[in-house]
Amino acid sequence: MLALTPETLLDELRVRGALLDGHFRLSSGRHSNRFVQKFRFLEDPALLERIVAALLQKIPGLDVTCVVSAAVGGIVLGYEAARQLGTRAIFVEKEAGTARFRRGFGVERGERVLVVEDVITTGLSVREVIDVVTAEGGVPAAAAVVVRRSAADVGAPLFALLDLPMESYEPSACPQCAAGEPLDEPGSRFLR
Ligand SMILES: [Zn+2]
Repeated sequence: MLALTPETLLDELRVRGALLDGHFRLSSGRHSNRFVQKFRFLEDPALLERIVAALLQKIPGLDVTCVVSAAVGGIVLGYEAARQLGTRAIFVEKEAGTARFRRGFGVERGERVLVVEDVITTGLSVREVIDVVTAEGGVPAAAAVVVRRSAADVGAPLFALLDLPMESYEPSACPQCAAGEPLDEPGSRFLR
């Protein structure tokens, strides 16, 4: 298994269309010249195995019995992390807008867990998972993300495999708009 460095990971993501360069309108309404299409690496089990191995290597002394993630993308990532760690994998879901455990999932009081997420931008989804774990008496020992787009305080030590700081602009201040570059809309050449 070839070791994955940040550089080789960038290449792997580009080749798969997981990291797109263009002129994108983010869900926030802001414009950015880069877009991470996370399901292009989540859909590839062989690549995800290497990504998770490299990510877990960054976390020293990890002693957990459970991996917790957020549906939907996090389920795949959490499952692979749990497989490599030999723990169980559970996830939180939104119900009426609130993140919570369903399906009989839960953590023991005092149980140490690893929280995983594919891409972190504001940190909100990771914080929601940590809140659910903490509310049940679990201990979020660490949070691990594949791609970090901005510095985020999530309430646990945060480890990122790849830092890709996001530059985004209000449309009125977007340099690409000013240069007359057309927007790549979702569903266009890049986004399937
Ligand atoms: Zn723009």
